[in-house]
Amino acid sequence: MSVILSIEGLVKTFGGLIATDNVSLDVHEGEIHALIGPNGAGKSTLINQLCGELVSDAGTIHLAGRDITRLKTPDRVALGLGRTFQITSLLDELTVIENVGMAIQVREGHNFRIYDLARGRRAVWDDARRFVASSGLADRADIRVADLSHGEKKQLELVVALAMKPRLLLLDEPMAGLGHVESQAMIAMLGETRKSAAMLLVEHDMEAVFALADRISVLVYGRIIASGTVDEIRNNPAVREAYLGAEDELC
Ligand code: ADP
Ligand code: MG
Repeated sequence: MSVILSIEGLVKTFGGLIATDNVSLDVHEGEIHALIGPNGAGKSTLINQLCGELVSDAGTIHLAGRDITRLKTPDRVALGLGRTFQITSLLDELTVIENVGMAIQVREGHNFRIYDLARGRRAVWDDARRFVASSGLADRADIRVADLSHGEKKQLELVVALAMKPRLLLLDEPMAGLGHVESQAMIAMLGETRKSAAMLLVEHDMEAVFALADRISVLVYGRIIASGTVDEIRNNPAVREAYLGAEDELC
């Protein structure tokens, strides 16, 4: 099985705090690899190191065999890295279609300028409509983001990330704040997404993790304490220990 993302010995410190401590893991082509762990474990820090928002203190990151450790975020994106944020990062005053169109323009190397969209670059619009139509937001295409529900914004974030055609998608808590119905829709959408991109999925919602993950890694105080299949992680005593008091979450 070929490896799309390979992380070796990644470290990030903030002053005296070691947020990620010698983290190594890999994500295979076509795989959903979940990263779980208590609050403050270093999950978002690791995602930020991978996408280039934070410079790592040590370690290496390879994407499809290329060393991207020292590359800036746009160069990582150009090589096939995509991400969604724990807090939504959409442009509120633009419509669903316009947000997706902007992402496609960026992918194609155009300037991040709204007037290009207003002029109606045909290919961008067609592409954007196609992405939105296949997303479950088809009937919301011309709604301003400000008028979407929280769940719809989370879905749109994923559509925007996919419009960049990533080979590997980094997802930081895509289920956060979603109700049951919205979560089910997001799980279905991520299940579809695996056909086009491998994923590193940071998520607290264990129902989603167990439904989607091929493998799970558990991060505690910046260290990976276990990595394995869903069953291996469920039955791992060290993992149960780390989740003590919240054991139900792992059942
Ligand atoms: P998680 O996403 O697993 O909840 P984070 O990666 O957000 O954890 O945080 C890991 C640790 O690093 C926490 O103790 C947090 O307070 C600290 N931390 C995160 N970002 C910063 C920062 N920019 N400056 C200082 N400390 C930070
Ligand atoms: Mg976080």
